[in-house]
Amino acid sequence: YITDEYVQPYMIYDDSMQAAYVDKAKLTGELQEGIAQEQFKVYYQPVIDAKTGKIASAEALIRWIHPEKGFISPGLFIPAIEEDGHISELDFYVLKKVWQFINERYEKNKFVVPVSVNLSWMDFYDEVMMETIIKEIDQFKEVGREYMTRFEITETSYAAIRENRSDILESFRIRNTKILLDDFGSGFSSFGMLQDYDFDILKIDMSFIRKMEENPKTKSIVRNIIGMAHEMDIETVAEGVETEEQVRFLKQSGCDYIQGYYYSRPLPEDEFIEFLEKESLKN
Ligand code: C2E
Ligand code: MG
Ligand code: MG
Ligand code: MG
Repeated sequence: YITDEYVQPYMIYDDSMQAAYVDKAKLTGELQEGIAQEQFKVYYQPVIDAKTGKIASAEALIRWIHPEKGFISPGLFIPAIEEDGHISELDFYVLKKVWQFINERYEKNKFVVPVSVNLSWMDFYDEVMMETIIKEIDQFKEVGREYMTRFEITETSYAAIRENRSDILESFRIRNTKILLDDFGSGFSSFGMLQDYDFDILKIDMSFIRKMEENPKTKSIVRNIIGMAHEMDIETVAEGVETEEQVRFLKQSGCDYIQGYYYSRPLPEDEFIEFLEKESLKN
């Protein structure tokens, strides 16, 4: 089958494509089957510390390698699974794999970094998942691993969660679990909401990074998002960074972390381990 690397840049979300790839009526069954048959793979994309050039963390990103359809982009199946109301099964699966990965690295005494998992607002209504997360974080804390898992929540999801499930956000907060605001600037929400939000890291949406080259105003926006975040004691990650020029500008602007193909694509577990091994030798 064609790999992620070749398909991804050309995949554009579109209703007709979704129909072709994801038959909604069959989705729930396919999802269960997919999980059971390990068709879903967790990839890890390194996030680099802009100051040191070393790996600081990683983001877990799901991939579906379907036996007949081949690689299906998360941009296609995640919205469909969300609409179907089954996203928490998948997110929980990813989270358990990530915990397993982190624990294995510790057991082998190997270098590992914190990993962030994407959560949908729907996950916050899955009581079993939420209770398990809290329990697991507490267990991690006992062995000093409480910083190892983080959660990414998009602006839109965050607004809904804050409105209805602020108790859960609070239980994450008191446990020092880092929350990342994903895709900042891509939705309708944005600036006004920052004054009421409580999160640790802001991820500047890749659409800004894309646009920086052609539009000098975009550079001003990016620079000022970083400055504003810092004044609020929030760290920043730039997403979708592909060129040296973008890296240079982001470093100059004080961006804390950089994520993108420039440093690394999302990697399957074995390649991510290789990446970590190489990084652990850096000093
Ligand atoms: P996201 O959370 O904003 O993830 C970042 C996306 O940007 C990923 O797309 C990643 O592969 C892509 N990316 C990273 N660096 C670059 C770059 O330099 N250039 C370009 N063109 N793209 C880059 P991906 O993996 O296709 O995922 C798309 C979205 O699907 C994610 O956006 C996230 O919203 C969702 N998603 C992925 N995995 C999960 C999951 O396990 N659970 C949930 N709920 N959503 C997920
Ligand atoms: Mg994300
Ligand atoms: Mg994002
Ligand atoms: Mg996104």
